[in-house]
Amino acid sequence: MKLFSLAPALPALALALAGCGGSKPAAAAKSPAQVFAEIDGNAILEHTKTLSSDPFEGRAPGSKGEDFTVAYIADQFRQAGLYPGNTDGTFVQKVPLIGITPDPNVTLTFKKGGREEKLKFKDDFVAWTKQVAESAELVNSELVFVGYGVQAPQFSWDDYKGADLKGKTIVMLIGDPPVPDPANPTQLDPKVFGGRAMTYYGRWTYKYEIGAKMGAAGVLIVHETESAGYPFTVVQNKVNEQFDLIAPDNNMSRAAVEGWISLDQARRLFALAGKDLSALKKQAVTREFKPVPFGVTASITLQNKLRTIHSRNVVGKLEGSDRRLKEEYIAYTAHWDHLGVGADVKGDRIYHGAQDNATGIGGLIELARACGQLSPPPKRSVLFLAVTAEEQGLLGSQHYAVTPIYPLAKTLAVINMDSLNVHGTTKDITIVGLGNSELDDYAQQVAAEQGRVIKPDPEPEKGSYYRSDHFPFAKQGVPALASSAGIDYAGKPADYGKKIRAEYIAHIYHQPADVVRPDWDMSGAVQDLQFYGLIGYRVSLADKYPEWKAGSEFKGVREEQLKAAAAR
Ligand SMILES: [Zn+2]
Repeated sequence: MKLFSLAPALPALALALAGCGGSKPAAAAKSPAQVFAEIDGNAILEHTKTLSSDPFEGRAPGSKGEDFTVAYIADQFRQAGLYPGNTDGTFVQKVPLIGITPDPNVTLTFKKGGREEKLKFKDDFVAWTKQVAESAELVNSELVFVGYGVQAPQFSWDDYKGADLKGKTIVMLIGDPPVPDPANPTQLDPKVFGGRAMTYYGRWTYKYEIGAKMGAAGVLIVHETESAGYPFTVVQNKVNEQFDLIAPDNNMSRAAVEGWISLDQARRLFALAGKDLSALKKQAVTREFKPVPFGVTASITLQNKLRTIHSRNVVGKLEGSDRRLKEEYIAYTAHWDHLGVGADVKGDRIYHGAQDNATGIGGLIELARACGQLSPPPKRSVLFLAVTAEEQGLLGSQHYAVTPIYPLAKTLAVINMDSLNVHGTTKDITIVGLGNSELDDYAQQVAAEQGRVIKPDPEPEKGSYYRSDHFPFAKQGVPALASSAGIDYAGKPADYGKKIRAEYIAHIYHQPADVVRPDWDMSGAVQDLQFYGLIGYRVSLADKYPEWKAGSEFKGVREEQLKAAAAR
């Protein structure tokens, strides 16, 4: 079976045939496409088997499994020819984490005059604090409805209109403002907030960040299944221990209380305030919307159990060959962590995380080895980042992106790998957030050389671009490419890709059942690594930095960053 249709390989073959019978041509260096095509799928499989084996205990941050994992990756990076990626001469970057467990015996009280509504933790609301403190509270904090809580200058959108929200508790809707298309009001306007696709303004993480920026003491999101993309039961899982990074200010600049309330309780709150939720929702999809004070106060006291965890990112470096350009970087990322040991499912308590994401780490190691064999070698330096605590909210990658070892203004691109294809080669490849940056143009070209087509994310409304380790880099301005396996498998029935995907989500994803299976075929992983490898390699040689495309929410951040770096 022909795996790759690689144009550059053909002239070499023709040359070899022409030379038949004559003198042997000198051994020519392999083309970069060939180097990546020869990545050893079995080696990736072996790394995956090791990392997902019982002694690694599901690779939870802070566990014995972390010690094994970090030691394994550092050792493999060294064997693959990488240098320690931290400037302190080691392969690790420390990632201090805080584990916060809220006491569930807590009530949220809404009060207006003599009337009170008492909400029950977990059933009616969930709330937590990310402040590193034994307790956090709201005492008769005034409630204000702020619509979707969005401030997006590029869409001339500001739900706050300069309102003073210091110490208040703001209530907001989940998702992007669903602005109808003036040309066709049955559809969403593709020119604002990405149309059907979710932008970062729709994500709950954005809502808490902007709330803190406004100085709010409390931020409560109204849960609605359709616009959130998941049911209230998912939100209710937040009653367990949550991890976060420890900012220098112990996260005291975040809102004291963050949380969700159920839609039923939101309706009751609006009624208590004498307001109509559906009428205000309509106002909230217009630029004229202004914050609406409820005349109701909120009170709650949260008690926390705190635990510090010393986790690590593993960082390897392949130094660039150009004396000047080696101070510029391309980064590959993959998370090493998984869920650890948890609830028993069919006799197994270890959440092995073989596909998610031992395969990505195996791929990262073998990609590093291949990059060391390229001729000509990459001019810019290439970083290989195996990051921690992705499953806890992209914490390892966020730590690197806010505390980078190498300047982000000199980091040209980030390419992320999360869960490689283990079912054979495909005729397509998916790019999440297609159209975001010029990295997509590199991707188009490489895919075409592989004889493949690029497909956009089939479910852009789920906001997948904001849910893996490339995102913290994008948020800081670095163009970041996220792709996932194709669905059109070579030599398989048309519905094969969809079937295995559905089977994975239903029975394997985030379950102890995510183990290496005898029917795995790593040829597709190698095909995708060739794709990632060639994109990064070409950026490493390019004359100019890849840029965000017009309309991307990250373009402004990057321009500021490059301007600031040039002024230094
Ligand atoms: Zn993952």
